[in-house]
Amino acid sequence: MPAIRGPKSKSKTRRHTRDLDQVHADVASKEHLQKYKDLHAHEDLPGFGDFYCTECAKWFESQTNLDKHAKGKPHKRRVRDLKEEPYSQKEAEAAAGLTTDNGKRLNEEDMVDASEDEDVR
Ligand SMILES: [Zn+2]
Repeated sequence: MPAIRGPKSKSKTRRHTRDLDQVHADVASKEHLQKYKDLHAHEDLPGFGDFYCTECAKWFESQTNLDKHAKGKPHKRRVRDLKEEPYSQKEAEAAAGLTTDNGKRLNEEDMVDASEDEDVR
């Protein structure tokens, strides 16, 4: 969660950390995480980038600070948030009542070309 709160919090980029769906991918795949870490030069990071909390997408100065962070409330809250599945387009469509049920085709002969588009999902 970004340090700046309020409705505009998401648009403030200075302290904006990774979004939950990105962290989800980080936890699932080491390569994904490495790609993100490679975007930052080690000498610019706190503790030369050695102490990183994957769940919170945060770097720390030392192992002590990282350990302290892992015991804290923000980290635990974040871990709990991560247990939920990331919000997906599929979920959004389902909530809006959009499904991929195309119904019955009335004129089968007219739909020969279009029928190839069925069962794509
Ligand atoms: Zn953390």
